[in-house]
Amino acid sequence: MFPFRSVMDFSINIPDELEQLRMKIKSFVEKELEPRAKQIEESGIIPNELFRIAASYGLTGLGIPREIGGNGGGLLGTVIYIEEVSKACPSFATAAMVQHLFIIPVMMFGTERQKTKYLPSLISGEKFAAHAATEQAAGSDLAGIQTQARKEGDGWLINGKKYFITLADKADYFIILARTSEPEVQEQRWRGLTMFVVEKTAQGLKIGRQIKIIGMRGANPYELILDNVWVPDDSVLGIVGDGFKIAMNTYNYGRLYVSAQAVGIAQSALENCLHYTSRREAFGQPLISFQSIQFSIVDLLKSIVT
Ligand SMILES: Cc1cc2nc3c(=O)[nH]c(=O)nc-3n(C[C@H](O)[C@H](O)[C@H](O)COP(=O)(O)OP(=O)(O)OC[C@H]3O[C@@H](n4cnc5c(N)ncnc54)[C@H](O)[C@@H]3O)c2cc1C
Repeated sequence: MFPFRSVMDFSINIPDELEQLRMKIKSFVEKELEPRAKQIEESGIIPNELFRIAASYGLTGLGIPREIGGNGGGLLGTVIYIEEVSKACPSFATAAMVQHLFIIPVMMFGTERQKTKYLPSLISGEKFAAHAATEQAAGSDLAGIQTQARKEGDGWLINGKKYFITLADKADYFIILARTSEPEVQEQRWRGLTMFVVEKTAQGLKIGRQIKIIGMRGANPYELILDNVWVPDDSVLGIVGDGFKIAMNTYNYGRLYVSAQAVGIAQSALENCLHYTSRREAFGQPLISFQSIQFSIVDLLKSIVT
C-alpha cells in the first residue's frame, strides 16, 4: 500500500452529469429548504409540500433507475442529494433517507406487483413510506427484535412495538421487520426474521407516542404499535426468513447515506465557522487571524477532506 503513488488514487471522479444534478439540488436547497429549515427544527414538522416540491425537482426519484420510472442518478447521485440537503437541514435528509430504506428493499427484493404498486407514488412525492425495524431493546442488535409474525390463513398476524420510526406519522406504507420462526441455535438469532410491507390502513396498526429527541427534531420519530395486524401472504418482501439479509443489504446503502449526512453537516459547520471568525473581531483583529483558531479550522477541513 505504501508509499502511495499519488493522493489522486483516492480521489472520487464525479461525472459532469452528477455535478449538474448537484447544482439542481443546491437550487432546491437555497430556494425551498433553507428558508424553512429553522421552522422545521422549531416545530418538529417537515411540511408535506416540501416533499412535493422536492419531487418537482426530480429529487424523490433519485437512485431509482429510469427504466422503472425513477430519475436515475444511482447511488452516487443519492449520496450527493443527502450531502447537499444535510448542509441546510439534516432532518430533511433523515426523512429522505428513510424513504429510501423502504424504496431500496422493494427495488431489490420486491415482486413486480410490489414495485408497481408502491414505487410510482413515492417517486411523485404523493405518498410517504417508513422503515420500522428498531425496537426499544433492539437497535444495533437487530436480531434481538421481539415483534412476532405468525402464520394465519392466507397471511400473517403481526404483533409488537417499534421505536424511533421516522415519518411514521406521514407514512402510507411501512416496511416491518418481524420474527417468523425461532432460530435453532442462539448463535444464529439472525435466522427466522421476515420483512413485510404493511399499509397504514391495516387494522391494528397504530402510531404511538412521539419520541422527544435533542437534535434533528424535524426527523420526528414515533412509536409504532402492531396489535394483531393481519397482512396477506403477498405482503412478504423477498423470502420468508430472509429479513435479516434484506435489512443488511438495505443498510449497506443506509450507512453511506448517514456518512454523506455527516459530511454535509461538517461542511456547513466549516462554512459557518469561516463566516463567523472572519467577521467577529477580538483584540482589534478578526478571530481568523489567530493561529489557534486557524489550527481548529484546518483540523476540521482535514477531517472533511479525508
Ligand atoms: C433520529 C432517529 C431516527 C431514527 N429513525 C429510525 C427509523 O426510521 N427506523 C428504524 O427502524 N430505526 C430508526 N432509528 C433507530 C436507529 O436505527 C437506532 O437508534 C440505531 O440502530 C441504534 O440502536 P439503539 O438506539 O438501540 O442503540 P444501541 O444499539 O443500544 O447502542 C447504544 C450504544 O451502544 C453501542 N453499541 C451497541 N452495540 C455495540 C457493540 N456490539 N459493541 C460496541 N458498542 C456497541 C452503540 O454504538 C451506541 O453507542 C432512528 C434513530 C434516531 C436517533
